[in-house]
Amino acid sequence: MKISVIGTGYVGLVTGTCLAETGNEVICVDIDKTKVDKMRNGEVPIYEPHLDVLFERNIKANRLKFTTSLAEGLAHGEIIFLALPTPEDEDGSADLSYVLSVSEEIGKKISNYKVIVDKSTVPVGTADKVRAIIAENAKCEFDVVSNPEFLREGFAVDDFMKPERIVVGSSSERATTLMKKLYSPFVRSGNPIIVMDEKSAELTKYASNSFLATKITFMNEIANYCERVGADVDMVRAGMGTDSRIGRRFLFPGIGYGGSCFPKDVKALKKAGKDADYDFKILKSVIEINSAQKTILLPKIDAYFNDDLKGKTIAVWGLAFKPETDDIREAPSIAIMDALLEKGAILQVFDPEAMPNISKRFGDKLTYSESMYSALEEADALLICTEWSIFRTPDYNKLKELLRNPVIFDGRNLYNINDMETEGFTYISIGRKAVN
Ligand code: NAD
Repeated sequence: MKISVIGTGYVGLVTGTCLAETGNEVICVDIDKTKVDKMRNGEVPIYEPHLDVLFERNIKANRLKFTTSLAEGLAHGEIIFLALPTPEDEDGSADLSYVLSVSEEIGKKISNYKVIVDKSTVPVGTADKVRAIIAENAKCEFDVVSNPEFLREGFAVDDFMKPERIVVGSSSERATTLMKKLYSPFVRSGNPIIVMDEKSAELTKYASNSFLATKITFMNEIANYCERVGADVDMVRAGMGTDSRIGRRFLFPGIGYGGSCFPKDVKALKKAGKDADYDFKILKSVIEINSAQKTILLPKIDAYFNDDLKGKTIAVWGLAFKPETDDIREAPSIAIMDALLEKGAILQVFDPEAMPNISKRFGDKLTYSESMYSALEEADALLICTEWSIFRTPDYNKLKELLRNPVIFDGRNLYNINDMETEGFTYISIGRKAVN
């Protein structure tokens, strides 16, 4: 099939590449010329595990092309995916300007039947808006489908190639048939393509992300309570997670969720509720708790240094909002580093992938280290913000040698409390007893 993907960020590039991998001819359109030039030169512009292999293979096979020309993209595909940003607007709602302005252009430019597929995360009613805008100018038949994306950064290729489910919101049989044909190679193991109306599909994405953000936040509250009463959140988590109604995943406490999706999607659903005269009380709490959670370690760091962080050097491991990505959008590391800098601390940071992005945000306010160990040199303490695998089993002797004081503030509960005691660290984590 001939496919066009408008917007080649984390979602668009993975969508385009994976659809090419199953034999489709794909053109990806992006407004960012530098990005398009890079991709034309065979360079993957984001860090996403396993994407490079598929990317290279499909470019070589002539199934994956890139352009800055929307007209070229629209002329090519029978199915046009919109993978455009829907960032947070000033009032918390989703900013639909990218989706709607491209839709207007689509209406003006298409001359034969197209299925416009919205993959961006958008509020209920957006498919209707997109349809109305295209219809203002379109001189041919077209359908609009809502097809929210559930991939996770860091596992995006796997998630796209082997999705647990595909949601298709469509009121057109013609479009639904095309979508089922396109996705059939991805559901050969029997996972479902769930067809529903467009509004339900749009809400499915917001409901899923808000539920997951709530699950994390609930555990963060349990962790905070554990600290006050002397319970161990890891034990509580193990006890809870074995209940199949609860499940083991998304029960890990820490310094809050971040990323390009959960924060904005929870806020957008709350705002959409307000617009429909519905007060999402639970989401309001989730937003408040998560915001506080990002700096939950700050008073403890402050207390350790007797409220005098001025001139103290803190090594920071992990800057990305989660492991296996270079994405730093809304990363908890940013909130806590801002607060530490404000208090006069000196920060020596290391992340396997996110340093270029974080340096765009912080510039020379941070010292960027070559390795996880060089970040520790002459540091007064170590702070862990992201649970990259390489941080999980460090050489404790080296840590003690390099750090001025053997102190770890762990926002992701990477280490065993008993090990920390045996090794002689001062170890402060989330929802577990402090080791002094
Ligand atoms: P992104 O910011 O990484 O990428 C968006 C791309 O669109 C950029 O490359 C940008 O240059 C391009 N663009 C902007 N305006 C354009 C235009 N007029 N024409 C062509 N290209 C244009 O965004 P993303 O993370 O891929 O997210 C896209 C959508 O998918 C959002 O709605 C997001 O909420 C949703 N989503 C994201 C994820 C995720 O993990 N990142 C997962 C599921 C859903």
